[in-house]
Amino acid sequence: MNHFAVKFVGLSLLAFAANSPAFATKPPAAVDAKRLIAADQEPGNWMSHGRTYSEQRFSPLEQINDSNVSRLGLAWAHKFDDERGVETTPIVVDGVMYSSGPWSKVVALNAKTGEVLWKFDPKVEKVVAAKGCCDVANRGVAVWQGKVFVGSYDGRLIALDAKTGKQLWSTLTVDTKRSYTISGAPRVVNGLVLIGNGGAELGVRGYVSAYDSKTGKMKWRFYTVPGDPKKPYENDAMKMAAKTWDGDQYYKWGGGGTVWDSISYDPELNLIYLGVGNPSPWNPSVRSPGNGDNLFISSIVAIRPDTGKYVWHFQLAPRDGWDYPATSQIIQATLPIDGKPRKVLMQVPKHGFVYVIDRETGKLISAEKYTEVNWADGYNLTTGRPILTGKGDYSKEPKLVYPGTQGGHNWQPISFSPKSGLLYFGETRLPTLHINDPDAKFQDHGRRWNLAEKIVMPETPQELAEMTALVSSSLIGWDPVTQKKVWQIPHKIPVSGGTLSTAGNLVFQGTYDGRFVAYADKTGKTLWESNAQTGVMAGPISYSVDGEQYVAVGAGLGGSFGVTFGELAKATNVPTISRMLVYKLDGKATLPALPVIAKKELDLPPMPGIDAVNKGRELFNNQCVFCHGVAAVSGVSFTPDLRYLSKETRAQFVGIVLGGLRADKGMPHFHIQLTPEEVNLVHDYLIKRTYDLKDGK
Ligand code: CA
Repeated sequence: MNHFAVKFVGLSLLAFAANSPAFATKPPAAVDAKRLIAADQEPGNWMSHGRTYSEQRFSPLEQINDSNVSRLGLAWAHKFDDERGVETTPIVVDGVMYSSGPWSKVVALNAKTGEVLWKFDPKVEKVVAAKGCCDVANRGVAVWQGKVFVGSYDGRLIALDAKTGKQLWSTLTVDTKRSYTISGAPRVVNGLVLIGNGGAELGVRGYVSAYDSKTGKMKWRFYTVPGDPKKPYENDAMKMAAKTWDGDQYYKWGGGGTVWDSISYDPELNLIYLGVGNPSPWNPSVRSPGNGDNLFISSIVAIRPDTGKYVWHFQLAPRDGWDYPATSQIIQATLPIDGKPRKVLMQVPKHGFVYVIDRETGKLISAEKYTEVNWADGYNLTTGRPILTGKGDYSKEPKLVYPGTQGGHNWQPISFSPKSGLLYFGETRLPTLHINDPDAKFQDHGRRWNLAEKIVMPETPQELAEMTALVSSSLIGWDPVTQKKVWQIPHKIPVSGGTLSTAGNLVFQGTYDGRFVAYADKTGKTLWESNAQTGVMAGPISYSVDGEQYVAVGAGLGGSFGVTFGELAKATNVPTISRMLVYKLDGKATLPALPVIAKKELDLPPMPGIDAVNKGRELFNNQCVFCHGVAAVSGVSFTPDLRYLSKETRAQFVGIVLGGLRADKGMPHFHIQLTPEEVNLVHDYLIKRTYDLKDGK
């Protein structure tokens, strides 16, 4: 069928469907291998996580373009059930949107009107929140032959009927005695559903599993780091990897290497590329005392889709000690390298470099800095190894390392436009102070931070101001062939959202301070912006229904930045209101007015002694800071600012922390991690912080 005929048939279908919803004309989620591999031929649909298997997040739609984007307005908005961080990329097939939301809940919506078709709640127990590092967000669902798949925060892979939202099967993919969670989107390849997991900050061993989409039965599992050194290796890849680890401590600590985000399928080469995470624990001198690269942490690993068998790997940060997972989006493209077309992968991970890798061999083609980096000067292209500076070696003294644990760029989806030839991604400059804790022991409490580093956070106004002064961020348009920045737009808040590029010469990106913005793809010029009322972190998508183009984005401030970096996140000055926002030309919908927040009074019990405060601070930094924020400053509206505890809450404090009195609100119990005496010390520290607030400190 020629191009004209496709258009003609498309038009006649459109006329036929004009009086009925588009989703009524085809069975729901009727997606198979043929359709997914040819997804580029269906510009109106967004059928897999990165739109096509290439994960480029480029939409060929051009009805909304640089000449009319000023007319963009809200078409509809869907309110998620829970006010938590939203990181989801929705799927759109034949007029129906399938989206995950906080707590791994799933909703199906009429993509034209926002009408709810069904909802599914996996009923994750709220106490599981303590097992995760970074809020209870979920990054998306997958669809295949009438089914919708979601990974639940507590480690289940669940298949739903795409028509009704009823559960068809559910498989537990993790050992619930360890701190595994799932936040990533499943991918479906030839009828196998692939899912990874997270938890390397808390002490787990990473892997990816493949399940039969019909039955939920496991077909294969690929471990990313070696297991118990006393037991036989699972396969030759683990035998090879084990040679790069020293001692037996790593197994106690889990080893890490969790595949918590990126999985990219290459139908051309019949390979799956796994983005393998940081090690557990972070500190290499505790994890693998002698030496060793510690494969396959911080690596991209290529495996076979039907067997899970290892093919090649490229390790970005051998012996990673800085929380540098290679989990960021893995984009496939064919680029002109030295004048010849070459099949490549591109990744812009936390490490601070844009990597271009040959996807047939795993060989590094180029790696260039896109932000401030001090742990490495660059890469030796012959060996593929980073040229270390020594400034990242904290074995003998603390080191301030760039990029920090938020990364130069983290999980936020990025986009590659084959039309402009540019990559579009948010950049963050925010260092981390790494401090060796050589005597650290694995805390086998089922859930607890296991980093083997001392955690010291800024607290005084001067320290907080110093941290803020070190921070900057931007949106970058980058040429991956010349490996040069083409343009850069500064942002006010240190982290920014995912990007989408379109054939309409546009780049869309949300900001953490509550805007959704369209830029000109060649220059970065702002062409349109809209008030999203909340921070926008997720990756936008574009689709069309009945000939009309839409742009959709999940909104809701949270995630690791929102919950941990209170002082910085507070500067966003927006509440968390979790929604799917959908725009079209001349859209006239409006969002309800923001709720008015009552001013809170400070309750000031007697000031505790300095010893109690100091002990309480250490406990707070180890147990509470990752949700309640640095120096107990909350940056998001869903975790209360603990400097404002009321008399009533103070009276119940031990019951809330140990007994789970606020479990229904998402505050897990900590009776495994803390004693009643320790909880009172944390409370003493919080009283001190209330006085600091009163005194303007
Ligand atoms: Ca990590």
